[in-house]
Amino acid sequence: MSKNSSRSNDHTSIVEKDAKYVMQTYGRQPITLTSGKGALVYDINGKEYIDCVAGIAVNNVGHCHPKVVQAIRDQAEKLIHVSNLYYTDIQADLAEQLVSVTGMSRVFFCNSGTEAVEAAMKLARVNTGKKEFIATERSFHGRTMGALAVTYNSTYRTPFKPLIQDEIFVPYNDAQAVSDALTEDTAAVIVEPIQGEGGIHVPSEEYLGEVRKICDENGTLLIFDEVQTGFGRTGKWFCKEHSGVEPDIMTMAKAIGGGFPMGALAAKEGISFSRGQHAATFGGGPLACSAALASIEAIREDKLVERSARMGAYFKERIDELSLDSFVELRGCGLMIGLELNRNCADIVNYAREKGVLLNNTSESVLRLAPPLVITKEQIDTVVDVLEQA
Ligand SMILES: *Cc1c(COP(=O)(O)O)cnc(C)c1O
Repeated sequence: MSKNSSRSNDHTSIVEKDAKYVMQTYGRQPITLTSGKGALVYDINGKEYIDCVAGIAVNNVGHCHPKVVQAIRDQAEKLIHVSNLYYTDIQADLAEQLVSVTGMSRVFFCNSGTEAVEAAMKLARVNTGKKEFIATERSFHGRTMGALAVTYNSTYRTPFKPLIQDEIFVPYNDAQAVSDALTEDTAAVIVEPIQGEGGIHVPSEEYLGEVRKICDENGTLLIFDEVQTGFGRTGKWFCKEHSGVEPDIMTMAKAIGGGFPMGALAAKEGISFSRGQHAATFGGGPLACSAALASIEAIREDKLVERSARMGAYFKERIDELSLDSFVELRGCGLMIGLELNRNCADIVNYAREKGVLLNNTSESVLRLAPPLVITKEQIDTVVDVLEQA
């Protein structure tokens, strides 16, 4: 190792290095994580935490699921990257699996949520010949120029204008507002079937069906952004199953690869890119595909979709029993839970971390509880105790 580069092995020197060399875009919690197993993670001092963040709804199968670890390890010895100029068995197998779990017709592979949204927007434009997108207030769809244009938070958006369109946001859970905002140039309506970053908002039972109908009547496509809600998070494989409404295009990422970076979009029959219209160098690469195949297998074998529904119901029941002074509302489905309080939650997040529980607040006053789906009842009990003390 040369003199001017060294491996950091204590939290303080890591923070210093980060401050010096990394663009300071994240408000990080003051711990350094080094390992994880199931619903637990460990910091550099060996302290254990119950992880109710799960990489922001990424680690659905738990940290370092043995099947995912083994799949990545085996694949790394065979082929780490190969161009989409060639076929691979795992990409074909994963495509088949994704079509099976989503009920859609074909997929396109990319590397992240925002990329999946970008691809969905391009797909909608090229299939309709129309340009505009209607999105909802409090939406989050990603940070690249296209996805950002349909992301509501203006502090994310405004400094980067011009984006691909001006603001077209309608209130969430208001189908009439979608109808009113439609024009002849609306390519698609993009909506999260449950809003994640916006504070875990669950729409009424009719909402998505009504939006579906409005889209059908106007030759407009419907995009469901399932980047956060997918792969068992809400107690179904995909959140769309709660409503029975089928989108034309859906986006996936976060939990798809069991922690390995990947994104994908799926579309129904007849909606597709033609040759050369879209591509990604790393999209559907061997490591990502093998991790995703293993993760899907783990979700099936460990019955994590059912578990998410069951544990989510238990978690909400236990929180409901608490008499929290500042309680406003408890929302969510499965293990995608939002606890809204009438106060800033930052000190609760800090307190819980000190007590060995990782929490995250989505907006200032909403605690997001999105643990790995493998979390146990005992771990949930511990989290609830800490919440009560906090
Ligand atoms: C996280 C998220 C994204 C963006 O995903 P990245 O992988 O961070 O680009 C898009 N849509 C939704 C609903 C998300 O929750």
